[in-house]
Amino acid sequence: MTDTLIRGRILSFHRRPESRDDLAAFLYKENGAVLVRDGVIVEAGAFDSISAIAGEGTQVIDHRPHLILPGFIDAHAHMPQMQVIASYGTELLDWLNTYTFPEEAKFRDAQHGRRIARLFLDESIRHGTTTVAAYCSVHKSSAEAFFDEAHNRNMMVIAGKVMMDRNAPDAVLDTAQTAYDDSKALIEAWHNRGRQRYAITPRFALTSTPEQLEAAGALAREHPDCHVQTHLSENHAEISETMALYPGLQDYTAIYEHYGLIGPKSLFGHCIHLSEREADALSDSGSVAVFCPTSNLFLGSGLFDYHRYNRRDKPLRVATASDVGGGTNYSLLRTMDEAYKVIALQGEKLNPLASFWQITRGNAEALSISDKVGTLEAGTDADLTILDASATPTMALRMETIGSLAEELFLLQTLGDDRAVGEVYVAGRAVKSALNTAV
Ligand SMILES: [Zn+2]
Repeated sequence: MTDTLIRGRILSFHRRPESRDDLAAFLYKENGAVLVRDGVIVEAGAFDSISAIAGEGTQVIDHRPHLILPGFIDAHAHMPQMQVIASYGTELLDWLNTYTFPEEAKFRDAQHGRRIARLFLDESIRHGTTTVAAYCSVHKSSAEAFFDEAHNRNMMVIAGKVMMDRNAPDAVLDTAQTAYDDSKALIEAWHNRGRQRYAITPRFALTSTPEQLEAAGALAREHPDCHVQTHLSENHAEISETMALYPGLQDYTAIYEHYGLIGPKSLFGHCIHLSEREADALSDSGSVAVFCPTSNLFLGSGLFDYHRYNRRDKPLRVATASDVGGGTNYSLLRTMDEAYKVIALQGEKLNPLASFWQITRGNAEALSISDKVGTLEAGTDADLTILDASATPTMALRMETIGSLAEELFLLQTLGDDRAVGEVYVAGRAVKSALNTAV
């Protein structure tokens, strides 16, 4: 395979930027390039020095004046909810019963699962997202279809079959034993096959019996390399109903602790209403709290206290996510625009450099995959998102008055969506321009 030199304005973060002037937190080259060989980044930096190390016959792709960033990483989304997104008028528990469970029941048809898996990954790519931590449905075939589609695209995903054995219609229930058996078989078939990663996925404590959480904990013990993903402390009614099902445990987080489900590879969606004890427990265990701003606003769940969680004596590891279909957009640009507003409602601001750190390296670190993705560092996989800050007339006009990188990023976050994503590379291959737009 010949080398590919992808030319443009490159941006990659070394660490979380503390302010809009924290220039040491990132690499930015106005006249930059990324050299790619066999799907891996050989080197990224100034065009002159990178082109000097490119081999004979290198193909050059020129994206100037656009930005080249690492592909975006979505830390929490639901593949089977593509036809749930934009469902009117409910809070979490009614939303699940009215819209989500009936829709997820359709995934007992493996053909439906395959179609939606394909379209879900298409939409992720279209919005600049190259890795997603996804929930499939309760049906083993939905996870098989999702991994198969991702594997064929050589796309890194973290995913799992949902485990749920109570408080939902029969069509979306498994049992403690079948959930264990199916998850185990999926781990053996898919975990670490190519770029695929398995996440043990009990939906949440409300839809799992103690026996099933026991089974999830056994899987986590037997496969410490796998992620665990679930929901925690999203909505007040959810919290009180959950606590009623687990008498004797002091709070919601204690349930997951009790069954061995917290730890550095555990991803907890929402975490809005945590007590200090719960936040300490998550911090002590290295667990990740996943901020889902569009979903938290849409379902009226509450305001995630991003800055406080980062600043407390025992800080939380935080990721951000679309949470489609409770979330209202696949775009992590739209997601960070809403994150900015959620933080503003709590009297603070999120600096735009920190936003773009979060959806690239920040989420990669939270998902423990930053050795592979999330930066433009040599030796990592060449997942790239190309951004055009003048993609629409509204954006182009505002760009006329923009004077700094931080301002440009803020414009992209505030006004950008899939139209601002010029191209997407997955393991070095241009994939957005190759998408078929038919559903
Ligand atoms: Zn969710």
